[in-house]
Amino acid sequence: MVDIDAFLKKRIDESNLRTLKPIEKRNGSVIYKNREVFFDFSSNDYLGLSSKKELIDSVNEVFELFGSGAVASRLLSGDLAIHHELEELTASFKKKEDALIFNSGYQANVGIISALCGKNDVIFLDRLSHASLVDGALLSGAKIFRFSHNDLNHLELLLKKEREKFKNALIVTESVFSMDGDFAPLKEIVELKDRFSCEFLVDEAHATGVYGSEGSGLIEELGLTDRIELIMGTYGKALAVSGAYLASSKKIKEYLINSSRSFIYSTAMPAIVVSMIIKSIDICKKEHWRRDKVKNLASLFRGILKEADIPFKGDSQIVAVIIGDNQKTVNIANYLQNNKFWVLPIRYPTVPMGEARLRISFSSNHTEDVTVSLAKGIIEAFKKTI
Ligand SMILES: *Cc1c(COP(=O)(O)O)cnc(C)c1O
Repeated sequence: MVDIDAFLKKRIDESNLRTLKPIEKRNGSVIYKNREVFFDFSSNDYLGLSSKKELIDSVNEVFELFGSGAVASRLLSGDLAIHHELEELTASFKKKEDALIFNSGYQANVGIISALCGKNDVIFLDRLSHASLVDGALLSGAKIFRFSHNDLNHLELLLKKEREKFKNALIVTESVFSMDGDFAPLKEIVELKDRFSCEFLVDEAHATGVYGSEGSGLIEELGLTDRIELIMGTYGKALAVSGAYLASSKKIKEYLINSSRSFIYSTAMPAIVVSMIIKSIDICKKEHWRRDKVKNLASLFRGILKEADIPFKGDSQIVAVIIGDNQKTVNIANYLQNNKFWVLPIRYPTVPMGEARLRISFSSNHTEDVTVSLAKGIIEAFKKTI
């Protein structure tokens, strides 16, 4: 066993102890904690769908049909007609041949990569890839090379040096990075993956709902759907429900149903959850204004920070205000919380050491006024604490 006391003491000494802070009530982007009200700038509810009543309208009817939980895994008696309906809808949403549902994005990435790769294979992974992608790669037993974040030269160098030593190769990245809010150079990576005969897995957790004409993701927006074999995404972020999917070929789906342990050995997603996802995708496709609004708010915010010379990263609906030091980041977050903005400090190991930051994520539920006030609050906090 690890030395728990030493671990916790180290976390406290480094201003890096995590604690849970329950929300008592959420209404869109307004949250209530300790009977105080905050504007939430740390959720992934980019399209503001989490409080849409339409999402639960179908739930009673679906409960009558399937009951509460699925009560078994998909391969036993938990495989419901409504799962197939969502898989077909997801495949058409992502414009791939077929799709497979997982209970969470974490389970999806671990289950997909560990099933598709083995010890004779090699995985090239962006250094800032989500923990679930890293864990899937580790579990697979494949040889792993991590290329510097979005660095095509480094990726090419590794491919030249290492690719031919292995049978199969997989390149893994995210389309919109969760902690930096930047985009992967997908077009260029697609060229490399073709040149070096690799398969390509892209995690669209933060792009789903926000990019593409109907919210399918960044891959569709860039016209790369047919050139990327494995497109993963979640239903729990912009789509505001829960769960995840892999959009791919029928053959890959059939293989994963027979081999992916996080798919096989887990109770299937409840039908009432599936019905909310179906409704959410429907709203997401139709209500384009939500995508436009969330992007406009993020640009407005970036413009104000830029003017004030506040350092930030991110070109998407996620903006990372980079501070560096843990304690300073915590102080600035506390200052903002005292001013009713729910903004959290993001620290190592979620981000690299010395790159502590505020991760600000926008939602179409936010207003311009609140966005401007938050930017001003950050400028004020920088003046006070630095
Ligand atoms: C959130 C996230 C996941 C995990 O998805 P969950 O459904 O929350 O388990 C996977 N990949 C990325 C990039 C994410 O941001």
